[in-house]
Amino acid sequence: MINIIGAGIGGLTTAIALQQKNIPSRIYEQSDKLKPVGAGILLANNAMQVYDRLGLREELEAKGNYIATLKVVDVQLKPMSVIDLKYFEQKYGVKNIAIHRGALQEILASKVRDHLHLGHKLEKMEQQDGQYQLCFKEQSNLLVDNVIGADGINSLIRNAIFQSKIRDSHQMCWRGLADYTLPSQYTHEFNESWGANARFGFAQIAPKLVYWFAVVGHQDQPSDTQDWQSYYEDFHPMVLELLAATDAAKIHKAKLEDLKPMPSWTQDKVCLIGDAAHATTPNLGQGAGQAIEDAYCLAECVVIEDDLAKAFQRFQNRRQSKVNKIVNTSWSIGKIAHLKNPLTRGLRNAVLKITPAFVSKNQSASVFELV
Ligand SMILES: Cc1cc2nc3c(=O)[nH]c(=O)nc-3n(C[C@H](O)[C@H](O)[C@H](O)COP(=O)(O)OP(=O)(O)OC[C@H]3O[C@@H](n4cnc5c(N)ncnc54)[C@H](O)[C@@H]3O)c2cc1C
Repeated sequence: MINIIGAGIGGLTTAIALQQKNIPSRIYEQSDKLKPVGAGILLANNAMQVYDRLGLREELEAKGNYIATLKVVDVQLKPMSVIDLKYFEQKYGVKNIAIHRGALQEILASKVRDHLHLGHKLEKMEQQDGQYQLCFKEQSNLLVDNVIGADGINSLIRNAIFQSKIRDSHQMCWRGLADYTLPSQYTHEFNESWGANARFGFAQIAPKLVYWFAVVGHQDQPSDTQDWQSYYEDFHPMVLELLAATDAAKIHKAKLEDLKPMPSWTQDKVCLIGDAAHATTPNLGQGAGQAIEDAYCLAECVVIEDDLAKAFQRFQNRRQSKVNKIVNTSWSIGKIAHLKNPLTRGLRNAVLKITPAFVSKNQSASVFELV
């Protein structure tokens, strides 16, 4: 029996991947109810390859919207960089899907409902003679011989075993869902509009539903009394229309942070996955993608190795190099997206416009290839 802490995208997908290999697992989740945080999400090609292998592709496609092109655009939505995803669709037989987080969570949870223990907040983990004592709030303790920490960026499991450093990107992010239908040329695009001190991304995720995120850099963050939406006044009118079509009470605000790459994610029979191991800034749209890849790879390693400690080590050896590269690249893109100096910003935009398509394609290729 494998014990998973956390029923986010990483924990749920791990349980599904293990189930497919007939390996029993149980998930302990602190919330009484699964709550989707953050409106929408882009499931990139690599994530969809995993869900295809897990038999979930068609269900996700039916609930989400197919994305054919990724674009970085200027404030008037004029393209600066374009990635056409057709090549990858043909190569791997799957498409990028933008979907409501609640819909994704519902599909994942429905596959492992019987293994899900909600209302179990882990408060402490102690090692005892090669075993692990899990102490839950208001629940009896549990002695187990393995633990997978899928408990997110502030992971209790990670903090019990490893030294780690959460890095503040000094960027604030707002996310929402607009009751809106994009003009048809945007229906299958994911656009990110870069301005002087703010950026704005958006995609249609379902009929009459657009997911958007807005990011403002540190020095430019509005004070509590200032309206953050004023940072978008010089953006394309559609950006303002999207903000106006959103229920303000449901806008989700969060600091953008990541985890400085760690030397190790595993010790004996404890293993970290997803954000607990390698939280990344969302600039490559790969945080969940990497958690989903982790889940599949981990289940494969558990089948190959007869000992869990060896399986966890094999998992880390396979995944770490790709993940660290993504975390570091995403961190750098976040810096480039918020350049302060108008001259360097102009240069950046000019370089983006002349960067040949094959360079962007090669970058995506290394992200979309499963390891
Ligand atoms: C603005 C933004 C946009 C993003 N967009 C994308 C995108 O488009 N595509 C993409 O791939 N990724 C994206 N991401 C990243 C993605 O959201 C995360 O990487 C992903 O959700 C991580 O999943 P996880 O399961 O590892 O962790 P989490 O989703 O954090 O789940 C952890 C779970 O553990 C539970 N838990 C925590 N502590 C305890 C405890 N002590 N006891 C029991 N349970 C506990 C929590 O309640 C939670 O359910 C984005 C992130 C941000 C911030």
